Amino acid sequence: MPYRSTAAVLEMKERVCALHAELLRWGLVTWTSGNVSGRVPGTDLIVIKPSGVSYDDLTPELMVVTDLEGKVLEGDLAPSSDAESHNEVYQRMPEVGGVVHTHSPYATAWAARAEPIPCVLTAMADEFGGEIPLGPFALIGSDAIGKGIVETLRGHRSPAVIMQNHGVFTIGKDPKAAVKAAVMAEDVARTVHISRQLGEPVPIPQADIDRLYDRYQNVYGQQPAPKEQ
Ligand SMILES: [Zn+2]
Repeated sequence: MPYRSTAAVLEMKERVCALHAELLRWGLVTWTSGNVSGRVPGTDLIVIKPSGVSYDDLTPELMVVTDLEGKVLEGDLAPSSDAESHNEVYQRMPEVGGVVHTHSPYATAWAARAEPIPCVLTAMADEFGGEIPLGPFALIGSDAIGKGIVETLRGHRSPAVIMQNHGVFTIGKDPKAAVKAAVMAEDVARTVHISRQLGEPVPIPQADIDRLYDRYQNVYGQQPAPKEQ
């Protein structure tokens, strides 16, 4: 069927565009080094940042729509140079609705040392369900990055992976959830880095990590009011 833009595509272009401001707001990006993408719900359409456009100049109209193979269906500019990695994730993890990539400084410092971030904070147990894992070294411009992300995150609780010598990729049920994971990953990367300066951070026992993760994922936050009988 030939591609036709829909209200859902337009809405995703607006959401993905607006979320790039969050990368700036939380100090996750320098120049044009980070990107957000989103899957239009119920479709194989991906909305992603155009390559090389500064965040201040982004508008919903400039967002690029591609299929899962990266073929551009809508947009005048080339998609982000990381689009192939995003697409690999969307192809192989159908539950994923949003992907974020940044070189946020503290998390990337862990990447430079090829070290996963150990689970030493309750906030990490809540959000990541354990350590933030390390993915393999992979050259840009092939499908190796995407494969490394999928192989590391599949079956893992963490929505974030630190790719060796590179930076952070996060996934979520939608692009906002992936951006939240990127913000939280940088936050805990910084705190654990600081704690390392003066000693060895104390690990949280696995049973407590499991309890914290379960509570945060299933109980925490606003719950719908119980229905009247
Ligand atoms: Zn990168």
